[in-house]
Amino acid sequence: MSTFQAPKGTYDLIPPRSAVFLAVRDTIATQVRNAGYGYVETPGFEDVNLFARGVGESTDIVTKEMYTLTTKGGDQLALRPEGTASVLRAALQANLHKQGNLPVKLWYSGSYYRYERAQAGRYRHFSQVGAEAIGAEDPALDAELIILADQAYRALGLRQYRILLNSLGDKECRPVYREALQSFLRGLDLDEETLRRAEINPLRVLDDKRADVQKQLVDAPLLRDYLCDACKAYHEQVRELITAAGVVFEDDPKLVRGLDYYTRTTFEFVHDGLGSQSAVGGGGRYDGLSEMIGGPALPSVGWALGVDRTVLALEAEGVALDLPAATSVFAVALGEEARRILFGKVTELRRAGIAADFSFGGKGLKGSMKDANRSGARLALVAGERDLAEGVVQLKDMESGEQRAVALDGVLDAVRELLG
Ligand code: AMP
Repeated sequence: MSTFQAPKGTYDLIPPRSAVFLAVRDTIATQVRNAGYGYVETPGFEDVNLFARGVGESTDIVTKEMYTLTTKGGDQLALRPEGTASVLRAALQANLHKQGNLPVKLWYSGSYYRYERAQAGRYRHFSQVGAEAIGAEDPALDAELIILADQAYRALGLRQYRILLNSLGDKECRPVYREALQSFLRGLDLDEETLRRAEINPLRVLDDKRADVQKQLVDAPLLRDYLCDACKAYHEQVRELITAAGVVFEDDPKLVRGLDYYTRTTFEFVHDGLGSQSAVGGGGRYDGLSEMIGGPALPSVGWALGVDRTVLALEAEGVALDLPAATSVFAVALGEEARRILFGKVTELRRAGIAADFSFGGKGLKGSMKDANRSGARLALVAGERDLAEGVVQLKDMESGEQRAVALDGVLDAVRELLG
């Protein structure tokens, strides 16, 4: 074993489990691609102020969890803790919003970094697939994104997840609510830090997980009762559209989420098999974010789904994805001449688009057949001196055990026929 270990709060993705991660990313990507979202990739680090301004100065993500660094050139950077601010920055920088084609629909997949207290399901390096629809205020867009995320989880075979939905209001009604909540919070028995938070960002206090705090919040005013008519009507349309799509959700008037930029629609996908880190994905509308990072007004909506927790949720439900074996044909060569010829056959098969692998390392028949089994290949191609003298190789069906001799130049056709 190496003396080096993966850093605290991180882990390595290794086969065979890594194949599940790829499949999860792929399944989510399939849904968004199918709905007109284009792929975007941004750097793993950004100007630290993008997140300070975008995600919010008072959020845990910015105050405690960002990996910040100063480059040798003196630039202040941060490893990206989330995707939305970067994607919006990229869209603004490329003027995608000026090409008369709003909304700009983008999706991404990548690594994110937060210096969190590491525990099961909460890592310092994790992976998300996200989707953002930039520059349109349309409840159908909010609905589309919720439906697509739901569709991705369903396609994966997940069942025990719930969708929590709320509206956080807009710049008309939220300030009124904020003040009502603040004066309520001032009357509670809270520690200094929480009181300070109540002054800067009172909605975040609703998200406090401590039981003694939650107990005092039972009678807190709810944003629902303060929504302006426009926000109420908007929210009602989102609810109707996703209901019509057969998506089941729960209204959660206390759902606030940990980022400051959300307005109106907010939602979270929670899984009941994951313990305390139950959020597998979440998102919402962020109509003010573009202006917060120096852009024009661009009402937008998006989500990010956590790949790590989605895999944990699949494991918790005992869902085994139907993953095709990576290898279809495994070649077992006995002797130097057979190695040369079968290695050539493997190349020929691969060039024809058939997944093939080879018995490397000169292991002999028994060891090589073990490798063939382990590979999950449907077919084994076996050849020794005697076969080659006759100009054939043995083609073995690994399921039935049936074996037949095939002429060397007929291997590709025979393999194609057997694989269907
Ligand atoms: P957020 O950007 O906080 O809204 O998170 C969106 C999703 O990313 C969550 O629902 C989680 O699935 C995932 N996620 C966020 N933080 C972590 C973390 N520290 N470890 C693993 N997954 C995370």
